[in-house]
Amino acid sequence: MKTTVYSAKNIVTMNAQKPDASHVAVRDGRILAVGSSDEVATWGPYELDEQFADKVLFPGLVEGHAHTMEGTLWRYVYCGYFDRMDPSGTTHRGNTSIDAVLEALKAAEAKMDDPDSPLTGWQLDPIYLDNKPVTRAQLDNVSATRPIGVLNASGHILYANSKALELASLLKKGVNHPGIPLGADGLPTGELKGPDAMAPVSVHVGMSGSIADVDERGLRDFARLCVRTGVTTVTDLAAKLDPDSVDMMLRVTGEPSFPACVVPLRFFLGLSPKELVPEVARLKKLSTDRLSLGRIKLVADGSIQGYSARLRWPGYHNGAPNGLWYVTPEQMLELYELALEAGLQIHTHTNGDQATQLAIEKLELALRKHPSNDHRFVLQHCQLADRAQFTHMAALGMSVNLFANHQFYWGDEHYTLTVGPDRALRMNAARTALDCGVPLAVHSDAPITPLGPFFTAWCAVNRLTRSGRVQGEHEKITVDEALWAITMGAAHSLHMDGLVGSIEVGKRADFAVLESDPRAANPEEIKDVEIWGTVQGGRVFAAADV
Ligand SMILES: [Zn+2]
Repeated sequence: MKTTVYSAKNIVTMNAQKPDASHVAVRDGRILAVGSSDEVATWGPYELDEQFADKVLFPGLVEGHAHTMEGTLWRYVYCGYFDRMDPSGTTHRGNTSIDAVLEALKAAEAKMDDPDSPLTGWQLDPIYLDNKPVTRAQLDNVSATRPIGVLNASGHILYANSKALELASLLKKGVNHPGIPLGADGLPTGELKGPDAMAPVSVHVGMSGSIADVDERGLRDFARLCVRTGVTTVTDLAAKLDPDSVDMMLRVTGEPSFPACVVPLRFFLGLSPKELVPEVARLKKLSTDRLSLGRIKLVADGSIQGYSARLRWPGYHNGAPNGLWYVTPEQMLELYELALEAGLQIHTHTNGDQATQLAIEKLELALRKHPSNDHRFVLQHCQLADRAQFTHMAALGMSVNLFANHQFYWGDEHYTLTVGPDRALRMNAARTALDCGVPLAVHSDAPITPLGPFFTAWCAVNRLTRSGRVQGEHEKITVDEALWAITMGAAHSLHMDGLVGSIEVGKRADFAVLESDPRAANPEEIKDVEIWGTVQGGRVFAAADV
């Protein structure tokens, strides 16, 4: 059996029994020993690998809430507001005006040979562009003859040009659909809200199939982003996981050069609770070292900035009506009971505090029927929970994965528009969660915001909004707590804390290879920790080579 010993400037283990080391021994893709060179040598002959002698080894980062379909989106035109890195490591400039967005689309259009093929864009967020919806007339200026579709950053709205509407038979008067606003001329404006309204058009603008599902090339590309951001375990939080998709994921993640462990959750969609639970139990048995199946994702409400999250009194600050339920209380209870009985974990998306309350109450009921000491049910986002709710969650053994990046990207809008100055302070209340004893992870929800756990940690530590205000001084957590959240905290949320999240004997040899020790960084600098690449299951991946 071959043993490789890596030496490093420092090895930050996240194991409290031995927080630092200089050498780590790896055998069969797992960690054999961590310590000094003398200590690891006690395991017998080894090969010394000194390529990391001037680097810091850190546990491979765990992204507990992302969507691998970002890999597919990068083949479309990037229309986002912020500069953003693609899978090849190239940074695309943000488009800070609607004219810049249209110019980016025109430049891509000019390079297309086939006059009929669709032009597709993604990540457009009008909230930063005077908050005006994009119209088909604007997109017709890019091309009136080829179908164009641009996805909103939320993934819940599509903007289409006249040609795309025409191909979907929607360029006519008398369309009557709540998700399809009409202009003064009686024709659709080009804005399509919600899956029902988007579906007939998306097939004509290059988004065949479900936009939530990654394709083969997209999965490989997303894994390249993981290497660049130090991530070795990544979730795909709302996957349909039909047989073709599972086969593809098993094949691609099984390739010797695939650099991450992917954890796709089966979305509660298209199957009843009674059908879903045995299906997920079946999927769980197909798991491999690099594809971990067998978890359920349930969505309770919508998004706060889209005014579709369910809020308790006093509701939205700007007077918008309360949001949407995506599940009935009866379905939630039935699914919770069946999953507890089968020993399966459920991650429930709750954005508004009313949705969080429903999930807490239904889990409490379900636990009376099927008591479980370690069910690991997780609330995802859970952005508006207050102290009483965190206390209740702790009592029930729930954990939380907070959307720390939201504070930066939409914190100013939450203050002025959605929830107002008071509740904006408690959004993504990481300090309160920890103080109440709720296990904590933090996430990017990529592609909604960019993958990058050190940036996510920075958000939780500094709580700065886009305009530079600190929002929620008393909800800040320390650098050490944030580093725990992006390693052991996220591993705990996936019930993989015995396998990944720290550099510890018996665990998978998953490391983020860094140029400096993030614990030594100023709190305002943790997002800037330079990443050389990763080691995953004992295999070395340099960001420069992927
Ligand atoms: Zn998500």
